[in-house]
Amino acid sequence: MTASFEGVAKLGFGAMRLPLTDPDDVTAIDIEQVKAMVDEFIAKGGTYVDTAFVYHNGHSEVALREALVDRYPREAYTLATKCLAWACESKEEAQACLPTSLERLGVDYIDYYLLHNLGGKRTAKFDEYDMWNYVAKAKADGLIRHVGFSMHDGPEELERILTAHPEVDFVQLQVNYLDWDDPVTQAARNMEVAAAHGVPVIIMEPVRGGRLANLPERGAEVLRAADAQASQASWAYRFCLDLPNVLTVLAGASTLEQMQDNMATFQAHTALTDADRAAIDGAIAALRAVDLIPCTNCGYCVKDCPEGVKIPETMSLLNLEKTTEDRDFVKGLYSWQTAEGPASKCIQCGTCEAMCPQSIGIIDNLAEAVEHYEN
Ligand code: SF4
Ligand code: SF4
Repeated sequence: MTASFEGVAKLGFGAMRLPLTDPDDVTAIDIEQVKAMVDEFIAKGGTYVDTAFVYHNGHSEVALREALVDRYPREAYTLATKCLAWACESKEEAQACLPTSLERLGVDYIDYYLLHNLGGKRTAKFDEYDMWNYVAKAKADGLIRHVGFSMHDGPEELERILTAHPEVDFVQLQVNYLDWDDPVTQAARNMEVAAAHGVPVIIMEPVRGGRLANLPERGAEVLRAADAQASQASWAYRFCLDLPNVLTVLAGASTLEQMQDNMATFQAHTALTDADRAAIDGAIAALRAVDLIPCTNCGYCVKDCPEGVKIPETMSLLNLEKTTEDRDFVKGLYSWQTAEGPASKCIQCGTCEAMCPQSIGIIDNLAEAVEHYEN
């Protein structure tokens, strides 16, 4: 890591789910509310604003130009955006992301530029389109200040990418208290890998797509008993704000009220006490006090699966549904996390079940996943 990161406040603004004037149109951004959210964010000490080429079909970047770039001096904030090269048809299309983002945002440079959502087969697309050399040149040309990547994969993939690319300045990872020791996400192990490479982390999904701000009652009551005034989201943010080697924690906000709550948490933040940590542990235990599939992500089942079914990922998503009681949310994740091997590809040969040390009824669980997420 060679870059310097002065001036980045610990709580960032993730502009992935901005408020809409029409709930059925992701491009219909409520720009007046976004302006109010930006004002609240900057006024309360925020600096890091995160968007992406694809958020709101490109309209997140456009909205930030109007709400932030056109209304504040350039030194008042740092901008991050991302290129989803693996979803592009060609190298030319992938390499057109940066100039398009610069134009949409109305800036001469991007402070933090990310190769977006590496992991699985997606990682190879960034090599195929020569994106690493492309961003290195853009950085040398002054169009990018810091180069990084985002990833939802596990520690082996993170280790592989960071070893192949020691030039990376930062990495963006999915970290929250529910994923901390999750056998598939392995957030704690990912944090260790990043630290071992001397690469600071931007935390995404600190409230797990909003699920940790809207817990099932069995988890909510544990946190309420510990502090009746604290919002559920504040517990999730505080967990992440306390972690070492963190550059910033991305707080998503879809309303001014959520932004106000986020910034109040940021401003009032004090380190978690032992009692606070016990409350979070208690909430996790309550959330998991359901009949979870005992998958450890050992991977034995996938070695000889003739159809390449994403078995441990599917078991993890079924567990996430049990934990959060939010099928629609999990269905959205399933659509891309298992795209390379959906449960419906299973031909019920039984090879995986013979290999599973936990004796999991994999075939039945896959059938359940098809019913829940593919219909
Ligand atoms: S039963 Fe299905 S998931 Fe298991 S190995 Fe056979 S095809 Fe793959
Ligand atoms: S073999 Fe069993 S425990 Fe191991 S990853 Fe597969 S389903 Fe999970």
